[in-house]
Amino acid sequence: MKLNPIIKKDLDILRDSLSRHMVDGKTFLVAGGAGFLGSWFCDTLNTLNARIICVDNLLSGSDDNISHLKKDAFQLVKSDIISYKPTEKIDYIVNMACIASPPLYQKHPIQTLDASVLGTRNLLEIARKNDIEGFLLSSTSEIYGDATIIPTPEDYWGNVNPIGPRSIYDEGKRVAETYSLSYCQKYGLPVRIARIFNTYGPRLDTKSTNQYGRVIVKFIDQALKSESITVYGDGRQTRSFCYITDQIVGLFKLLLRQGIDGQVVNLGNDDERTILELAKFIIKLTNSKSEITFQSLPKDDPKRRRPDIRKAEELLEWQPKVSLEEGLTKTVAYTKH
Ligand code: UDP
Repeated sequence: MKLNPIIKKDLDILRDSLSRHMVDGKTFLVAGGAGFLGSWFCDTLNTLNARIICVDNLLSGSDDNISHLKKDAFQLVKSDIISYKPTEKIDYIVNMACIASPPLYQKHPIQTLDASVLGTRNLLEIARKNDIEGFLLSSTSEIYGDATIIPTPEDYWGNVNPIGPRSIYDEGKRVAETYSLSYCQKYGLPVRIARIFNTYGPRLDTKSTNQYGRVIVKFIDQALKSESITVYGDGRQTRSFCYITDQIVGLFKLLLRQGIDGQVVNLGNDDERTILELAKFIIKLTNSKSEITFQSLPKDDPKRRRPDIRKAEELLEWQPKVSLEEGLTKTVAYTKH
């Protein structure tokens, strides 16, 4: 399968900004490598000449995201990360394996929890046996729950309902963080934790656009089909959206920078928007005739979300560069392609 031209152009930008990181010939185990973030991570590794073992059970990931990569330096292992055992020496582990769409993880609650908890533990054991150079856990802004401090810094403890509909994802990731830091403390593993805030771009939710889609791709899909844009609640809840290339640069820097073992870092864009504003912006950008309809707000939907990214700025010399308008324009072009 040929690589989409919009993705190809973004990968050239990623290769240029990350080329000084020497990863050629290193073997990366990317858990969840067929998903949205995982496949972008694999693609970027590929442009930097690394060897990639992508482990994915394809529950939310898709073969379409990685089929263009199937060559010598890339292999797909269709497996759960809970039971996966590598057969060769691994240099780096990146754990991106977990369903992140609220309706989809609510449909698969046990598998989602197991992926975060048992899957992370299995990967940490693999890391220990392989004496790896770096372990990156993709955690989430969801561990803050319905945050009461905005912008939210890393030392905020969170406001999570442990038995609510989002707890499957939130609590699973919280344990994954605790496991990862415990392995760092007990065995000296070079662990780094990224708390990823809402990220979007080409390939997001390709398998599940309407029913399970994240808000940006769902609204774009609705706008392009001239269907109603389904805003939940009054649309005054906020999110801050980060374009995928910015997120990938942050993740690479976090994994590959020396001397920051055990660090937990927010990665996201701090440009906070209401969901109603987003809906109107997408209608304008797509020149759509869609109207906005209001539907009931899902239980425990966080009211505001915006990262405090000062730690990433200082520790990683990283800042998001792509504006919402630029990122949405690319995502719309990709969806139309
Ligand atoms: N949302 C919405 N309409 C939709 C889908 C989502 O208004 O059709 C809202 C949702 O209630 C939330 C925000 O968009 O406030 C982001 O939802 P998403 O599922 O993308 O991610 P979340 O940040 O909630 O995990």
